[in-house]
Amino acid sequence: MSDINRKKIGIVGGGQLGKMMILEAKRLGFYVVTLDPDKDCPSSSISDEQITADFDNPHAYVKLADKVDVITYEFEHIHANILERLAEKGHVVYPSVQSLKVIQNKYSQNRRLAENGIPIPRFSLIDNIETIRRLGAPDKFGYPMMLKSTLGGYDGKGNAVVVSESDIEAAYLSLGGGDNQIMAEEFVDYTAEISIIACRGIDGSRVIYPPAENTHKHSILDTTIVPARVSDKIVKKASEIADRVMEVFEGVGTFCVEMFVTRSGEVLVNEVAPRPHNSGHYTIEGCFANQFENHIRAITGLPFGCVKLRQPTVMVNLLGESDGPAKLLGLLDAYKDPNVHVHVYGKSKSKKLRKMGHITVFANTVEEAIERAVNAQKIVKITGG
Ligand code: ADP
Repeated sequence: MSDINRKKIGIVGGGQLGKMMILEAKRLGFYVVTLDPDKDCPSSSISDEQITADFDNPHAYVKLADKVDVITYEFEHIHANILERLAEKGHVVYPSVQSLKVIQNKYSQNRRLAENGIPIPRFSLIDNIETIRRLGAPDKFGYPMMLKSTLGGYDGKGNAVVVSESDIEAAYLSLGGGDNQIMAEEFVDYTAEISIIACRGIDGSRVIYPPAENTHKHSILDTTIVPARVSDKIVKKASEIADRVMEVFEGVGTFCVEMFVTRSGEVLVNEVAPRPHNSGHYTIEGCFANQFENHIRAITGLPFGCVKLRQPTVMVNLLGESDGPAKLLGLLDAYKDPNVHVHVYGKSKSKKLRKMGHITVFANTVEEAIERAVNAQKIVKITGG
């Protein structure tokens, strides 16, 4: 790698996660090149350079690799084979392509976790409708049952719930059953969904952030509450599991481990993302060093910053209210509360339910932070004009 002061970082993807990585990279004076098909993507306003090309264009990746010391990515649904060829030629890709390949496919991810003794819901690959029917037996998964496309899912797209035997076919076909690989999972009767951001450095050192409690609306993350309102025992269990997951998926950088807490006090891993995560945005104001800073530190070989929570912190997402040119409303009013921090991703177009920004609020107690965050979320709106 080149001199510490002139490290060059390539980021595949110029969405909000890429943008927030750049904000941290620039604080350290690093040079950033972004690869994204949209010349007006959120990163475009602050990236030193952008290669505007499709994510499946191998030449664009070669161009990117030739310009930088290390390549990272902000989403996992990329052509791992293209990155693999770069890694084989000696380019540095973090997190590693091997772990990306396993994580990309929900079935291979679950298998790897299960083989390593990580607690996860029971799961099975589906060949046809008859297999789902058999799994619906009361001594198997029963109903409701979760069906998941093994590839490309995000924000619940790619999932379907089979409520009873009569909607097996509709659920299977809605996910492109027969053409797409599909996995069934037992439906977890959870009391809370939590996630933990964890980071690993080039030297193998690891840091584990506190568990965050997440609630979703329309299958999209809505609120993240930290500290999670779970017992100390669950905090310990979840933190140990996140640490073990980091052993299973070798790889440098920030990861997110999403988990279910069940009624009987079990902690089951739902899924792992090899990148900073929406449920880790609270770390920007909430922790001494945030998930993006520690990602940049990890991939450039620097020691980690402190992952402790400063104060109870709540993050709420700002989703597009309607379609059209993005318009931000309510900022003046929301900022009457000095503990409110609004993040606007800079997407030129709003779409209904598109992630357009988020708000973080901290306070002396978690209850107060929730109240002030919910209030701010009512005031700030991003509309389509
Ligand atoms: P995505 O990759 O689209 O984020 P997930 O697999 O994380 O999809 O599922 C999205 C949401 O669906 C989860 O946050 C959870 O609320 C619900 N979910 C997923 N798997 C299960 C399951 N096995 N049992 C119950 N709910 C589930």
